Formats: sequence, structure tokens, C-alpha cells
Amino acid sequence: IHRSPGEPEFHQAVRSLFSSLTVVLSRHPEYAENALIERMCEPERQIIFRVPWIDGLGKVHVNRGYRVQYSSVLGPYKGGLRFHPSVNLGIVKFLGFEQVYKNALTGMPIGGGKGGSDFDPKGKTDFEVMSFCQSYMTELQRHIGEHTDVPAGDIGVGRREIGYMFGQYKRLRNAHESGVLTGKGTSWGGSLVRTEATGYGLAYFVSNMLAAEDDSLDGQKVVVSGAGNVAIYAIEKVQERGARVVACSDSSGYVVDEKGIDVELLKDIKNRRRERIRVYADERDSATFVDNGSIWDVPCNIALPCATQNELDDAAAHTLIKNGVRIVAEGANMPVTAKGVAVFREANVRYGPGKAANAGGVATSALEMQQNASRDSWHFDYTDRRLESIMTDIFGRCRDTAEEYGHPHNYLLGANIAGFTKVADSMCALGVV
Ligand code: NDP
Repeated sequence: IHRSPGEPEFHQAVRSLFSSLTVVLSRHPEYAENALIERMCEPERQIIFRVPWIDGLGKVHVNRGYRVQYSSVLGPYKGGLRFHPSVNLGIVKFLGFEQVYKNALTGMPIGGGKGGSDFDPKGKTDFEVMSFCQSYMTELQRHIGEHTDVPAGDIGVGRREIGYMFGQYKRLRNAHESGVLTGKGTSWGGSLVRTEATGYGLAYFVSNMLAAEDDSLDGQKVVVSGAGNVAIYAIEKVQERGARVVACSDSSGYVVDEKGIDVELLKDIKNRRRERIRVYADERDSATFVDNGSIWDVPCNIALPCATQNELDDAAAHTLIKNGVRIVAEGANMPVTAKGVAVFREANVRYGPGKAANAGGVATSALEMQQNASRDSWHFDYTDRRLESIMTDIFGRCRDTAEEYGHPHNYLLGANIAGFTKVADSMCALGVV
């Protein structure tokens, strides 16, 4: 804490992982040697830079850019870029820290990193977003590469932003190095299923959680927060499997639709028109818009927070439990507060932590890297089947590790220990670096 003051989200993520480790360290005292834990708390490299850009009226703006290259012990740094006014070093470090153990859980050869900027793409023209992305990449290109560091999207960074950044990278480096970014368009090196992967992967993870209780998504009532990339495709897949999503949101409020969210309308409003969520209720008779209060007041069996960190606190957790929630699985990174997680555990609500439940996005990014390396592109169904089997394996790792350490159904403990031991064993093998 003394080395990273004023970074509460980073401290929260570190505490959450290490609080699962007492049982591991008592069985494996070697993990307490050679300052292994201290090294895990310190990113390998942190890059902070100025991003000047010019708006449509010719005015110059300055934002701050970040890339935290957290750990390369398992492979090149890998993790998304976030463009949102709330981005600061502590947020990027928490996301990078989570990413290391998430990537380890996928079983794929990728290290962990994260980056972004306090730039807000909301309300900006395409030209302004391009101007920002080109300036951001002008500095970032010095630090990334297909064997070094491979960024992707996150909040505020989708296909459009990846396109502008890839274009600038290509121009500056005079190389069509497809593997330097993931989340690309399919006509310029992207993978089918990457767009859908985090949301679909979350649905596959939840299917596994339900199957472990001899249940399925069919007939379940679900609430999904957010209306971005992760939320939209989680809604699409759980509804395809027979569930009904009765509410979703953005930062302006939430909509309730007891008939089930019309996902094509939602995509049109959010992806094509880039409008606020209120428009969904304006255009759908069965829906109402609520601009104050909490989406977690809407009764459901399954809650899928897919917006941002710390969006579901202990009070919301109590409300969900009172209304009969049985499963909570995180599409976003660390959306449930530490107290919220404790409330779910005490009530025996099954909880799927983000580092496992939302790992489908980065896993499919690793599949995109495989396709780029072999100059190949795979069919949708094949890639989707690989995603589902990766999610089933991740679930299996969490379940089996939790059982092995005497805490069956504690998927948080299982995910933390399985991710930690993989990273720790590799760090031990590579010496003090
Ligand atoms: P998007 O930018 O596509 O969507 C984010 C959604 O969450 C929007 O509806 C946004 O509303 C809402 N939101 C963002 N910040 C806030 C806030 N402070 N308060 C309330 N609502 C907010 O991002 P993604 O869907 O890609 O990411 C969502 C979450 O999933 C993040 O935690 C991200 O780290 C995580 N994640 C994403 C992956 C991916 O592949 N994209 C992979 C793994 C995890 P508004 O538009 O009004 O801001």
C-alpha cells in the first residue's frame, strides 16, 4: 500500500486474490520465499504519457495515456485498453493485476497488461475519436508488438477505435503486423466470435454453474447491467438458451422489459445509433425506463453485472437475495464490492468471479493471435465451439481447485488459487526477475 498510495481499486483486487491464499501458503511454503508475493504486487513496467489531440473546431486537448505491462511470465502482455474519464493509474493497475490471473486461468500462453486513457469518447465525432486514437498510438507503438504486448478493447474501445489505432500502427511501423492488436475487423485480420466472446463466454460459464446444480438457463429470469459489448452478447446468448433478460442499463439509468430484451433493437440503438438506453423504452411498448434507483432492485434468479467495477454493493446484494437470486456471475471486472461478495457467500448464492466468468474475451483474443500467426481464419462455429470448451475448462479448474482445497462451490477461491499457482510456479522456474 505504501508503494501505491491512492489506488483503492488496485488494493481491493490484490486483497481479493491474496485473501484466498492462506490455505495455499500453508501447503506450499515455497511460495512465500524470494519475495514472490511482493514481486506479484509490482507491475513489470508502467508507462504514462501525454496524448495531445485536436477536436473538430481546431481546439487542442490533452489527455493522459497509460499502459501497465504487468506480467510477461506466461507470454506477451495481453489485455484491453479503456477510454473513460474515470481512468487513472490505480484503475489500470487493478485491471492489469486481474488480467494476469485471468489469462493464466485460460490455459493459454499470454501474460497480463492493461491500458487506456481518461479520454471520453462519448459525444465525440468519428473524426475526433480518430484524432485521439492516432495520437494515443503514436506513443503506444514504441511499447507494443505481436511478441511483446498485444492490446485489445475494453470500456469505450470497440471495433472503431481498434481500427483507427491499427491504421496508425501500420503506418508508423510500415508493417501489416496483424498480431499486434486483437478485436480487429474480420476483413483486416480479426477473428469471428471475438465481438461476441466475452458475453457468450459468460453465458457458457453460467451454463456450467447451473449444470453443477442439475439446472439450466431455460426459464431463468435474468438481470444484466450495462448495454455495451459484454452485456449485449451475454443477453443474446442467455436468451438463445431459454432465459429471459428483464432489465439492462447504461450510466443514465435502466430499462425493464418483462417480455425479455429485444436484443436486435438494443444493438441498433447502442452499436449503430450510439444512443442512450432511454431510447429502447421509447421504441418498445413493453419496456419502461427508470432514471433513478438501482437495476439490482429488479427481481431475478440470475444477476450478471456487465458494466463496471464496484457497481453492485452489499446493499444491492441483500436486495437481490431478498428477491430470490441464486447465481451472480461477473461479466465486468470486479463489479461486486468486497462486502457484496461476502454477503453472497454467507447466503450461499453461487458466485462466478470475473477473472473466470469473463475470460472468454481474452481467450478468443488468443485464438485471434493464433489465426494471425498462421495467416488463417476460422469459421464462426468452430471458433465458438473452442470458446465454449475453453469456458468449460475454466469452470472445471475453478470447481476442482475449490474442492481440492476443501471449499466446494467456492469458485472465487478456486479461480484465485488456480490462477495464482500457475503464475507462481512459472515465476519460481524463471528465477528472480
Ligand atoms: P462498453 O464500453 O462496450 O460498455 C460499457 C457499458 O457499461 C455501457 O453500457 C456503459 O454505459 C456502462 N458503464 C460504463 N461505466 C459505467 C459507470 N461508471 N456507471 C454505470 N455504467 C457504466 O464496455 P464493455 O462491455 O467492453 O466492458 C464492460 C465491462 O466488462 C468492463 O468492466 C470491462 O473491463 C469488462 N470486460 C470487457 C471485456 C471485453 O471483451 N470487452 C473482456 C472482459 C471484461 P455508458 O455508455 O452510459 O457509459
